[in-house]
Amino acid sequence: MILVVGGAGYIGSHTVKELVRKNKRVIVLDNLSTGHQEAVDETAIFINGDLGDKKVLSHIFTEYPVQAVMHFAANSLVGESVTNPLKYYVNNVAATLTLLETMLDYGVKKFIFSSTAATYGIPKQIPITEKTPTNPINPYGKSKLMVEQIVQDFSEAYGLEYTVLRYFNAAGADGTGLIGEDHDPETHLIPIVLQHLLGQREQISVFGIDYPTEDGTCIRDYIHVIDLAQAHILALSAMLDSKEKGLVQRTYNLGNGQGYSVKEIIRKCEEVTGRKANIHYGPRRAGDPAVLIASANKIENELGWKPAYELENIINTAWNWHKNHPTGYEKMKGSYVHEG
Ligand code: UDP
Repeated sequence: MILVVGGAGYIGSHTVKELVRKNKRVIVLDNLSTGHQEAVDETAIFINGDLGDKKVLSHIFTEYPVQAVMHFAANSLVGESVTNPLKYYVNNVAATLTLLETMLDYGVKKFIFSSTAATYGIPKQIPITEKTPTNPINPYGKSKLMVEQIVQDFSEAYGLEYTVLRYFNAAGADGTGLIGEDHDPETHLIPIVLQHLLGQREQISVFGIDYPTEDGTCIRDYIHVIDLAQAHILALSAMLDSKEKGLVQRTYNLGNGQGYSVKEIIRKCEEVTGRKANIHYGPRRAGDPAVLIASANKIENELGWKPAYELENIINTAWNWHKNHPTGYEKMKGSYVHEG
């Protein structure tokens, strides 16, 4: 069985769906602080609990034959991490230590960790490879890098096997339209633009038009959430593969390798939806690097991962989700019942 910590969140819930499609048995541990129980596939065992709670973890490892752990649970708002770093170090680092400690207590030694492009800070070279120096510029990015370092040390000392996946800009939704992105507050560009085009926001603020890019707005590498989920499946298979020689200690970027500016994203959203946006050009948002584009050659060469979806599909599936769930999971409450 696979334990998915944070499996009720955006990327976690999409990965759970893919795991289930691959006939894996899944247990989800999530405290629903930002996740939604309605997002968890019905066939997964759902446990409402905290990853920093040793009792809950011990119960899971005693009751279920867990082969590997995927860890998605984290706070991920950059701005909040600057004003409230304690929350980030407690939830993202300290709680993860408890998870890792309990895994080792029970001899579970395969770990897939959700990391981020924020570990690179403001990179000096584009595209960003895994060899690009890490230099996070906010507590969120630092908390993720700390866990990467902890995991590496645990691997050397205790034989923990790990695959660290550094996501660039996750977007899009499952093709079924049943699950999607639902953050409160929403801070990400694509859902904000789509919510505006649905009439839920008066305008879109573009954060900065004086960046050293062609149109002056920031460039990002948007990657479909299903492509991220597929990368987890491949990473898991490689870790469970008994032919694998030596300890698995891997770190990969996950991106499309293609950059789009904020203006280009808004234009594409207008094109996909056939609606016109009301755009306000505002000041820069603190801590935004001008350009973040991944090189994902390493995971392509080593695991054969290749993103299947382009921007058009990312926006189409996200639009499908937002249109049909204008209040996110809110109106679905109570429509699913889970064990646990
Ligand atoms: N952005 C924007 N207006 C918004 C939200 C985001 O102009 O309302 C910009 C943001 O400054 C960044 C890009 O869109 O350049 C992507 O931001 P997002 O928060 O989606 O992801 P990030 O790259 O910060 O992880």
